[in-house]
Amino acid sequence: MSATAGPRKRVLLAAPRGFCAGVDRAVATVERALDQYGVPIYVRKQIVHNKHVVQTLEKKGAIFVDKTEEVPEGSIMIFSAHGVAPAVHDEAERGKIATIDATCPLVTKVHNEAARFASEDYDILLIGQEGHDEVVGTMGVAPDRIHLVDDAQDVKSIRVRDESKVVWLSQTTLSVDEAMASVDQLKEHFPLLASPPSDDICYAAQNRQAAVRQIAPECDLLIVVGSKNSHNSTRLVEVGLEYGARAAHLVDSADEIDDAWLKTATVVGLTSGASVPEILIEGVLDWLSEHGYNSTETVRTATETQHFALPREFTRARTRTELLDPPRSKETSVSADTEV
Ligand code: SF4
Repeated sequence: MSATAGPRKRVLLAAPRGFCAGVDRAVATVERALDQYGVPIYVRKQIVHNKHVVQTLEKKGAIFVDKTEEVPEGSIMIFSAHGVAPAVHDEAERGKIATIDATCPLVTKVHNEAARFASEDYDILLIGQEGHDEVVGTMGVAPDRIHLVDDAQDVKSIRVRDESKVVWLSQTTLSVDEAMASVDQLKEHFPLLASPPSDDICYAAQNRQAAVRQIAPECDLLIVVGSKNSHNSTRLVEVGLEYGARAAHLVDSADEIDDAWLKTATVVGLTSGASVPEILIEGVLDWLSEHGYNSTETVRTATETQHFALPREFTRARTRTELLDPPRSKETSVSADTEV
């Protein structure tokens, strides 16, 4: 690239970005299972929604499956960070499969809220993306009580049993603005709609969105690193555009960046979704540097200290045999050890 005069090309690097505590725990759970129990280790669904992470774990020996039926009897299976319905725990038990639950504790919190409101006979309006693994898992906690709200049209067709006993919950990775807009719409139809004790959008999604909101007005182009099926990553693109980025694109890695996007871009914003390892951001920074963007300024809007402990199974069962044949009271409920 030419170094002739012109506006100085630079990169605004959002922080926080990349791995959140729930993803960190989920990835570490698979690695620890491979180390402690040896292969084969099955993982139900993508452990987190990132192609690079899944491929890296596959190379280490993890086997990813879509359904419990694909896992042979007497095997070890890990549940992904997005969580599963109680029926999936039952499937595993019936199939004599030992499980390790890598569900993010913040998703477990939503499951617990859903179970509590259902037991108090509420109808629950779950704001979230139809078909997303997290939403499927949460709906499975109380299938008779939960109504999905994916877009405004859904509101009109929802029938509840008692309009004075309706509460909303949400997927953890929505954008805050989007969730609140949906709540406002819901309240037009259900004026007595109750709110959960705290909103369910997790700290990591909120922090990554806040950092994007900060840099977006200056960005000619915003690059979000993340996979297409990563809900929190796609939301970062939308938040960027909403808050002033002239263009925004989601890429899995530097290979997917189109040179044409840079034609009119002096300031490039860069961030990544909560399931994205930092090595992919480094790849994009190298690529941008090769294209004349040699100055990088980090814009930090929060410092994260959240940490979640690994699932209890690792201390309860030191070996594969102990995990597969536990002494009596085998735990089948959702585990959610947390350390903050
Ligand atoms: Fe947990 Fe939030 Fe990370 Fe999802 S994005 S795994 S809810 S911390």
